[in-house]
Amino acid sequence: MPTALTDDIWWYDLRGVNATLVDDDGALTLVDTGLPWHGNGLIAGLSDAGYELRDLDRILLTHFDFDHVGGLSAFDGLDVTIYVGERDAPLVTGEQASPLGNHKGAFQRFLSALLDAPDNEVVPLADGDTIGSFTVYHTPGHTPGHVCYVGEELSLGLLGDLVREDSGRFEPSPWLMSYDTDAVARSISDFADRSPAFEVAVPGHGVPFEKSGSERLDRLAATL
Ligand SMILES: [Zn+2]
Repeated sequence: MPTALTDDIWWYDLRGVNATLVDDDGALTLVDTGLPWHGNGLIAGLSDAGYELRDLDRILLTHFDFDHVGGLSAFDGLDVTIYVGERDAPLVTGEQASPLGNHKGAFQRFLSALLDAPDNEVVPLADGDTIGSFTVYHTPGHTPGHVCYVGEELSLGLLGDLVREDSGRFEPSPWLMSYDTDAVARSISDFADRSPAFEVAVPGHGVPFEKSGSERLDRLAATL
């Protein structure tokens, strides 16, 4: 059962990883899809939030990772477009495999054997692109194509695994789970500089913040 963060934003706590449902001015948007066994729970959550599966318009992915794209196959055959950062898009479609020469890439390669490429249209996103009221920010490091999404009118930042919440504050994505932690730190500072202020902040892991989201991220950026 998703938790309402505002009238238009719901948080799916998938036990260890988050997904978000947003009514973006009538365009129903799911952000990330959890692990392969989370698909049915995501669909059930739509009705808990007052919607039906046919209302779903699009899926925004913050990045290609087993715990964020795993539930995609539950939406196969539906008229739902998938959006993902351009560097991660060929991994989602299966056109490319993750590089074995990077510790995180090798881990992804191992887990991707358990994933099926989605049937849906996959649209690659560049920095500055917009989808509905969201603006795309390329924030590489955790993965090369990682993006964050900011909806200024919704006052919402969807942070993926740029950061995670731990003990009531943000921390950078850790080395073990990242392609490049120096790039993560640069992306946190760059995103904090460039993004507009937002209240609600949903990281890929940990508890979302309902207030002062961008301020909390600025506080982390100041320590890096
Ligand atoms: Zn993750």
